[in-house]
Amino acid sequence: MREYEEQRKGLHDRRIKKPRRIVDQALACTECELCMDHCTTYKLTGELMFSPLLRLQTAVKIFEGEEVTPLMLESMYNCPKCMQCESVCPLEIDVTHIVHRAREELVRRDLAPTDRHNAVIEGIMQRGNAVNGEPSTRLDWLPEEFVQRESDTLLFLGCLPSYLVKNAASSTYTVLKKLGLDFMILEDEGCCGTYIYESGKTDLAAEYFQQNVERFKSLGIKRIIAPCCGCHKCFKYFYSDVLGETDFTVHHAVETIYDLLKEKPDLLKKVEKTIAYHDPCRIGRGEGLYEEARKILKRCVTDLEEIQRNREDGLCCGAGAGIRSVYRDLSMEIAADLLQSIPTKHVVSSCPFCVFNLGFASKKKDLGKQLTYITRIVEESLP
Ligand code: SF4
Ligand code: SF4
Repeated sequence: MREYEEQRKGLHDRRIKKPRRIVDQALACTECELCMDHCTTYKLTGELMFSPLLRLQTAVKIFEGEEVTPLMLESMYNCPKCMQCESVCPLEIDVTHIVHRAREELVRRDLAPTDRHNAVIEGIMQRGNAVNGEPSTRLDWLPEEFVQRESDTLLFLGCLPSYLVKNAASSTYTVLKKLGLDFMILEDEGCCGTYIYESGKTDLAAEYFQQNVERFKSLGIKRIIAPCCGCHKCFKYFYSDVLGETDFTVHHAVETIYDLLKEKPDLLKKVEKTIAYHDPCRIGRGEGLYEEARKILKRCVTDLEEIQRNREDGLCCGAGAGIRSVYRDLSMEIAADLLQSIPTKHVVSSCPFCVFNLGFASKKKDLGKQLTYITRIVEESLP
């Protein structure tokens, strides 16, 4: 408990020091406008307030205590943190980090988050998931009876795969088992807490993260494997941002499967299929994990095509950083824009949230795309 209090004190100290540095970084923007054409939300809305440049200026105003209008608040919360702007900014201004700290400041000033954010957070606290799933059905996707086993590796499925993209959960589980990995899952897994952090409610996120950390410690967990890019980013970066160093390493399922497959060069059989691979922002621009997924998929299907804007330049699906739950129409427009640029009917992604949001937009807009999580493709190619 003392250790936790010290960590919280450290968090408090860091947050007191941060605003000045954040403002200085935002003010470093030279208004060169190189980022403007790349911005997901500016491109779709044409609204200057929803551009990186204006978001930086708005963040400064928020930190300097100026009055916050509804549009200013919206501009901080409808950014999906796709990092497109950062990838082209010549000064490498960390726009998403500044947006995040501005969200925290809005919470500190009691102006945010929105009621919708609070409703989702309430669901996480009450039901242990961010998608209003019934906890007793969490493992409905499991292809065999649940048996609690011990391992220092935890496959943390995440809310989306557990409740909404269940074949992402079942195929990741099956593939890792067939590849001989020793791992455990949890019957009452809970949530990684990324939504709480992204809302700007950092104190609450810290408490939630700490509970998970203590639980993982008591179970002897040394390695977490996450099929979801949101969980992966949260465990890898958000936990250490608010709690300091953690005892476990974090890997995306694609990294683990890629490593395991290296030892089994003849295992996969190619299936006759034409697909395109979508680079999720968080493991793409965020982690540089571009080739691993492609190398896996090339062993699974006969034809892997590229989306014109791919890798570092890949388009966002519009779901992340809390935007889908609050600004659903914009989220769907972003998804539809991406889908219209994809040459194939079958689209594969390494993020269940991308799969979910793109699949939803395809249905609603009648775009005829079929979205699949990557391990489902691997599963089909395994003997
Ligand atoms: S993170 Fe994406 S949506 Fe947000 S300002 Fe940058 S480019 Fe625009
Ligand atoms: S690219 Fe960087 S410096 Fe140029 S306007 Fe955008 S944030 Fe400012």
